[in-house]
Amino acid sequence: MSKSFDVVVIGGGPGGYIAAIRAAQLGFNVACIDEWKNDKGGPAPGGTCTNVGCIPSKALLQSSEHFEHAGHHFAEHGIGLSDLTIDVAKMIGRKNTVVKQNNDGILYLFKKNKVSFFHGRGSFAQAVEGGYEITVAGAATESLTAKQVIVATGSTARALPGAAFDEDKVLSNDGALRIGAVPAKLGVIGSGVIGLEMGSVWRRLGAEVTILEAMPGFLGAADEGVAKEALKAFQKQGLKFEFGVKISKVDTSGAGVLVSYADAKGAEQTLAVDKLIVSIGRVANTTGLNAEAVGLQLDERGAIVVDGDCRTNLPGVWAVGDVVRGPMLAHKAEEEGVAVAERIAGQHGHVDFSIIPWVIYTSPEIAWVGRTEQQLKADGVAYKAGQFPFMANGRARALGDTTGFVKFLADAKTDEILGVHIVGPYASELISEAVVAMAFKASAEDIARICHAHPSLSEATKEAALAVDKRTLNF
Ligand SMILES: Cc1cc2nc3c(=O)[nH]c(=O)nc-3n(C[C@H](O)[C@H](O)[C@H](O)COP(=O)(O)OP(=O)(O)OC[C@H]3O[C@@H](n4cnc5c(N)ncnc54)[C@H](O)[C@@H]3O)c2cc1C
Repeated sequence: MSKSFDVVVIGGGPGGYIAAIRAAQLGFNVACIDEWKNDKGGPAPGGTCTNVGCIPSKALLQSSEHFEHAGHHFAEHGIGLSDLTIDVAKMIGRKNTVVKQNNDGILYLFKKNKVSFFHGRGSFAQAVEGGYEITVAGAATESLTAKQVIVATGSTARALPGAAFDEDKVLSNDGALRIGAVPAKLGVIGSGVIGLEMGSVWRRLGAEVTILEAMPGFLGAADEGVAKEALKAFQKQGLKFEFGVKISKVDTSGAGVLVSYADAKGAEQTLAVDKLIVSIGRVANTTGLNAEAVGLQLDERGAIVVDGDCRTNLPGVWAVGDVVRGPMLAHKAEEEGVAVAERIAGQHGHVDFSIIPWVIYTSPEIAWVGRTEQQLKADGVAYKAGQFPFMANGRARALGDTTGFVKFLADAKTDEILGVHIVGPYASELISEAVVAMAFKASAEDIARICHAHPSLSEATKEAALAVDKRTLNF
């Protein structure tokens, strides 16, 4: 006997669980199906983000940053420590606790919002009159019918051809977040967000980290000035980079991993490491969805084809998050989930893709919103730039973290903010002001005229806005 729902969401990551909650708030009878299992085989909703992504990576970044501060920066404050140790098992245990708190939090939210949760794999069985039949394969097999289906099945790590993940020596994000002991030498392939964050964690804990990148330059999506400043800081910390490499072989037959590659000049090189993290991108995950049963259209990369409003080719079937086009970011997935639930309710849900913030939680942190200076040049937009260094910010000096700057890009004629780029302390938090400003189409002058608390890092934002008109007060 099939259980019927107004809305069935397949996938309980940030795209799916948020869509389910919003749909329930709007008065629908909602089910959410998620197959993630915790180490005891129980449900672990929250998807990649909660289990092997955003949340655990930030937990380990925090722990490793404490370790680095204790080892290298406490002394500047007059705090002496002898016998500094790191208990990796405890650090990983704390990370697991943080993950579980988030899993449990989502289960609680489902209860609170009366979302029926099903633990298992959801797949399309067939189209039925007025909707779809969805099979849930879990501890038992169940059948659900749904008037509307939201697919939010996320993504998985892309493997390097010829180097399948074994999560022992060749690690995806999953294995990289549970290495049992600090490796003496760690290789990372890919200098994107995940490679930089994971590389930073293990370097802080004592690993010698080498990052191999196929692209000739660093962080192509970021503003060039920010990328240059960040690279300088990372290299100073001891992260080693090689750009423009071409990997030819990954050999795990010995004790460690041997990576053979041609360097930027074409010379053959070998990197010997104990562990290798491969972070070369992620692929949309539609495994097990049985998309063929209903004719759900996928593109050549396996992502679900959607329009700007997340509608698929099938009536009443929507898709959000990493499984569709666009940036693979948790907050983008969430916004799409909310918008789709509202569209199902006949409202005008909207996601403004031009002001989705990007954050890299390294030290210094990197965050931006809007267009970069090189994009504005390429688009032929006349702009003004203003920059303010954290070196001249009182709070940053007090924190002992003066790396980096805030940079504003504003329209040369109208002064409307076109992009804000931050490299430095708490960039992840500071960027919100810029997102709000851009959402309200603010000018640089608007920010420059607003009173910012003193002493705060946000004063660097105000000063960068003042710098657009060359009238900084503290630099
Ligand atoms: C190491 C790392 C760090 C990251 N850090 C950040 C960050 O700091 N900030 C940020 O914004 N983003 C970050 N991301 C990206 C972020 O995790 C993703 O963009 C986000 O999780 C996408 O959400 P989603 O709901 O689309 O998919 P997912 O989170 O992947 O969730 C999909 C869920 O669907 C389930 N599922 C799949 N198929 C089925 C099926 N057939 N039936 C039932 N369940 C199914 C999966 O098990 C999973 O639970 C990070 C990613 C990684 C790997």
